Amino acid sequence: MFKKVYPETSIRFNCIRCDVCCGTGPNVSLTIFDVIRMASFVNIHWRQFLEIYVDVIIADVFPFMKLSGIGKGRCPFLRFDTEDKTYCTIYKARPMKCRLYPYIVMSPSSQTLYVDEKCPGIGKGSKVKVNIEFLRRYQSELKEHYNRLNGLIMEEGYEPLEALYQALDEAYNEAKNGAEWFDLESLSNTKPLIELD
Ligand code: SF4
Ligand code: SF4
Repeated sequence: MFKKVYPETSIRFNCIRCDVCCGTGPNVSLTIFDVIRMASFVNIHWRQFLEIYVDVIIADVFPFMKLSGIGKGRCPFLRFDTEDKTYCTIYKARPMKCRLYPYIVMSPSSQTLYVDEKCPGIGKGSKVKVNIEFLRRYQSELKEHYNRLNGLIMEEGYEPLEALYQALDEAYNEAKNGAEWFDLESLSNTKPLIELD
C-alpha cells in the first residue's frame, strides 16, 4: 500500500534492516546515471552490468531499466550479516530510488510523493522528512534521463534499445570526464532524509 504524502510530510522511521524492500522485487527502477555509478563501483563496464544485473523492458517505444531479482526477487546486492541483518554491498553507489525509500518518487516534476507502508521501519524511531536538496537532485536526474532518451527516440529516430545504449555511452563518457553527478562522495554527503528529533 502506498500512501500519498508531500515533501514536507514527516514520518517516524527507523530502518531495522529487514529484507522486505530489497528482498521482494526488488522494484527498483534505474536511470542511466544509476547504472554508470553502480557499474563503476563494481568495476565492470555498463554493458556487462546490464547483462548481469538489469532487466530492460521495452514498453511502447521506451526502454525501462530495473534491478533484476534472484529467486523470488532478492536483489543481487543484498547480503545478511552474522546477526541476520541485511546490508547492501553497493551501499555507496546504490540507486537513487533505494536511497529515498520508504519515500517513493513517481514523477520527475510532481510535488507528490508516496510512502510504502509495507516497510516495517515506519512508525519506529525518529521523525524524518525528505531532504529537499536530495529530492531535487534525484528529480533532475530523472528528468535528464527521460529527456535524453526521448530526444534520441523521438527526435533522432533511434530504436528504444539503441537509444538506451547510446545514452549510457554518453553518460559513461561524461563520467570519465569528471561529471558532477558521478561523484559518489558528494552524493553520499547529501542525506536523503533529515532527522527532526
Ligand atoms: S527500509 Fe524498511 S523495508 Fe527496507 S530494510 Fe529498512 S525497515 Fe526493512
Ligand atoms: S541496491 Fe542495495 S539498497 Fe537497493 S535494492 Fe539492492 S540491496 Fe537494496
